[in-house]
Amino acid sequence: MADKYDVIVIGGGPGGYVTAIRCAQLGLNTACIEKRINKQDQPALGGTCLNVGCIPSKALLDSSWKYHEAEGAFADHGIQVGKLGMDVKAMQERKDKVVLQLTGGVASLFKANKVTWLQGSGELKANKQVVFTPHDGEAQTLEAENVVLAAGSVPVAIPPAEVDQNIVVDSTGALEFDAVPKKLGVIGAGIIGLELGSVWSRLGSEVTVLEAVDTFLPTVDQQIAKEAMKLFTKQGLDIHLGARVTGTKKNKNSVRVTYTLNGEEHEETYDRLIVAVGRRPYTEGLLSQDAGVTLDERNYIYVDNQCRTDVPGVYAIGDLVRGPALAHKAIEEGVMVAEVIAGEHTQVNYDAVPGVIYTHPEVAWVGKSEQEAKDSGEPYKTGVVPFAANGRALAAGEPAGMVKFVVDEKTDRILGMHVLGPQASELIQQGVIAMEFGSSIEDLQLMMFGHPSLSETVHEAALATDYKAIHVAQRRRKK
Ligand code: FAD
Ligand code: AMP
Repeated sequence: MADKYDVIVIGGGPGGYVTAIRCAQLGLNTACIEKRINKQDQPALGGTCLNVGCIPSKALLDSSWKYHEAEGAFADHGIQVGKLGMDVKAMQERKDKVVLQLTGGVASLFKANKVTWLQGSGELKANKQVVFTPHDGEAQTLEAENVVLAAGSVPVAIPPAEVDQNIVVDSTGALEFDAVPKKLGVIGAGIIGLELGSVWSRLGSEVTVLEAVDTFLPTVDQQIAKEAMKLFTKQGLDIHLGARVTGTKKNKNSVRVTYTLNGEEHEETYDRLIVAVGRRPYTEGLLSQDAGVTLDERNYIYVDNQCRTDVPGVYAIGDLVRGPALAHKAIEEGVMVAEVIAGEHTQVNYDAVPGVIYTHPEVAWVGKSEQEAKDSGEPYKTGVVPFAANGRALAAGEPAGMVKFVVDEKTDRILGMHVLGPQASELIQQGVIAMEFGSSIEDLQLMMFGHPSLSETVHEAALATDYKAIHVAQRRRKK
């Protein structure tokens, strides 16, 4: 007889492991199938996010930022450092330790919550049957009342730049360089390209970013994106917009890249090349032909607002389905699905999903950009205040960037918040909370903010939407 569970989750990334734990909390007999083998050759939970994504990239961003500060900014504070050196091996070991601590933590949480971790791969068949093939054993058929697909995504490959994880790497390879490349090329000026480009640029690489589209960060508010482009360029990222890579030729220790820009062909040689042109849903080996779930035109698994697929009792979440490929979006969908399975009525508010780029300064946003508000045709107002007007930012030597609100003129509701600046990833949460509570911009204006704090710029930007900011000179626009 096949083993029977209340819930089988396929994939143990942030979407899958959170679903499994929440299901177990709700009293459901739950198994999670995860096939990942980590670089230590051990089965590992945590998915892309903990193993080769959010966490290792942030570990390297933090290490490289500390190096960058020691190289320059410390001197402004009167701190003298002796001869500065960079031990890339030690930096990588630290990153690996952080990853192991977190992935091991998820395994402990599974034990504590009595989630069964099935180590191997899972394939959905007809009638909610799942074939589980362990790393070391025979395939077996399992049955479940509910199946949650959480297999995540993998990097998009492009024919002109074939990845070998040595000279030409994807995001996973870019987290493993054992030395700082002298000349580094990055294809794609998306979140991952900018973050990984920043890591190696801060450590001394000469970094060129080749981006096919003419607009920098097209989905980000363009006032913020334009300022970010200026700052990143000043930091040393040589960003070419409208540059489409058409071919690569590898040599022993370098790669020659051809790209078109303004109708002309260009050629450049790099020691390493990072291909960061997006991610795609990972459905290979996950769905048998008779699984019954539908894919949309971009190969995402088709789901409704509560992540139900077309097969009753089968759900799909995270990077496998529509919406931004972000860990916190996968997590919230996982919680929602577990609660829906348990008979609760939970919903994700897709209008309040924050996005963050962990460059320095960071870029963060939630809700509508000004261009989206304009396109909607409804009257709106904005308030923009620079960190240069904030005492705490100046004291910290972080004057670059701004906070911007986009507000519905008729209802006073916050449509969007955008931050370029220090701690943007933390500040944006104030916008998320305000939007989730359906707050008006006046509610934020009337709140007290601790002084001195970076949050005061959030307050001032809220005030600025009604020409009430104190620390910037505002001129009322003519209607
Ligand atoms: P995943 O994390 O991809 O997990 C899916 C898991 O399923 C994998 O471990 C895989 O091995 C397993 N699996 C797949 N198929 C099967 C199968 N058939 N059987 C068994 N197991 C299977 N997001 C953020 O929010 N913030 C960030 O700062 C951030 N930084 C990133 C940096 C990088 C370099 C990268 C690459 C991504 C980053 N992301 C970030 C995106 C984030 O990692 C993903 O959005 C998130 O991991 C998606 O979660 P998931 O659970 O849907 O899938
Ligand atoms: P994201 O989807 O945010 O990870 O960003 C990936 C970026 O890579 C997008 O902005 C694409 O326009 C860009 N891109 C895709 N293919 C190419 C290419 N051949 N040359 C340069 N940029 C590319």
